Amino acid sequence: MRPRSEERPACPNCGARQAIPILYGLPSPAMQEAADRGEIVLGGCVIAPEFPIWLCPVCEHRWGRLIDREKHWEM
Ligand SMILES: [Zn+2]
Repeated sequence: MRPRSEERPACPNCGARQAIPILYGLPSPAMQEAADRGEIVLGGCVIAPEFPIWLCPVCEHRWGRLIDREKHWEM
């Protein structure tokens, strides 16, 4: 499972449309592989509602809030 490019929001800091979703929780093997390919970022096992959900690989800005994520990522 991977996000389609049109689902990626523009970075509020630099405007690049290359946002990488930050996923939290214990990573499954599929999640680990996706992280190794740079498709997702593993945010760790500690979760808080205000944690950011997007990482911009261009300027490394992180934004969004976990509590606002509409889609739950299952990998
Ligand atoms: Zn950016």
